[in-house]
Amino acid sequence: MLFKQLFDEATWTYTYLLADLDSKEAVFIDPVNTHVDDYIALLKTHGLALKYSLETHVHADHITASGLLRKHTGAKTAVGKACGAETADLQLIGNETLNFGSNEQIQVISTPGHTAGSTSFLWRGRIFCGDSLFIDGCGRTDFQAGNPGDQYDSITDKLFTLPGETLVYPGHDYNGRYVSSIEQERTRNPRLVDKTREEFIEIMDNLNLPAPRLVDESVPANLLCGLTDEEWQEASIPRTDQATTSHDGVTATCAATVSMTGQQLVAAAKADIKEIDVNNTKQKIAAGTIVVLDVREPKEYDAGALPNAINLPRGLLEFKIGTVEQLADKNTEVLLYCRTGGRSAMATQTMQQLGYSNALSMAGGYEAWEKS
Ligand code: FE
Repeated sequence: MLFKQLFDEATWTYTYLLADLDSKEAVFIDPVNTHVDDYIALLKTHGLALKYSLETHVHADHITASGLLRKHTGAKTAVGKACGAETADLQLIGNETLNFGSNEQIQVISTPGHTAGSTSFLWRGRIFCGDSLFIDGCGRTDFQAGNPGDQYDSITDKLFTLPGETLVYPGHDYNGRYVSSIEQERTRNPRLVDKTREEFIEIMDNLNLPAPRLVDESVPANLLCGLTDEEWQEASIPRTDQATTSHDGVTATCAATVSMTGQQLVAAAKADIKEIDVNNTKQKIAAGTIVVLDVREPKEYDAGALPNAINLPRGLLEFKIGTVEQLADKNTEVLLYCRTGGRSAMATQTMQQLGYSNALSMAGGYEAWEKS
């Protein structure tokens, strides 16, 4: 067995390497994109083949290396389904067991709260809990569909019920500490000791933290496993469904384990939504009855956009849509567009899932608009 805790100084992020030295199979948890060369060198040094690159959540403070590791090593990427990172190979829902090496097992525990899709991984008496639980603290719950009540339940019902000697390896520590234990957090963590659920929610709702420095860049990128829009659409890595087994009598199935490439995901989204062409869009804009959302990145928007379009990048849609006043009524007609119509098709599908009953996507995107 090989276990390494790696640190990204720029974002105070911990990354973990777990490996079985008999079979030479390895797993990364929360790798950071700027270190991909180091990771590949490390794998080479120990002669390891990477089986999985796991995410505890879609991060707001750094960009993941998972997509790059998949590209270079063929590893499968995995993230909590509720994170909305459709491009990850495995969409985890909790209670799965991920097997690697001759006999290594990682138990997947769904721990929503910091984000809706936050997930913890239990391996050999160690819990890798991302930002669900820190040493003497926990991750914030004020964006990415975070929820302090869920966070309290995840910590007290799922993490604190693990054996006291379980080692806690967090996603970050801002004070130079490496590891804690469930017993230590249960008895010392000031956010939780002697706090009721209501008191915890009160604390979390009043942290008044500034937005993470890299949020606008990291979240959209991480929804695509750290790749650019073009890179993942072109990636044609088939997904397979061999990674899950049953755990504690619960047979868990990964939801998106069908063979799907980026292009296929877009095609599936297009089959699920309504598209309109540029001419139809112009009529609707002229009639003044439609809200227009540009789901491209700010750089693209700044270079030219439809009149009165609101810029809300696809990666931020889920957790910023509630701030768009014009869409307070979910029956409002809303048109989404991107550069060529792929991203907006997927974003429109997301809008439908969020309950917006009149969401449309503009076929051909801004490129078609410009041509016309
Ligand atoms: Fe986080």
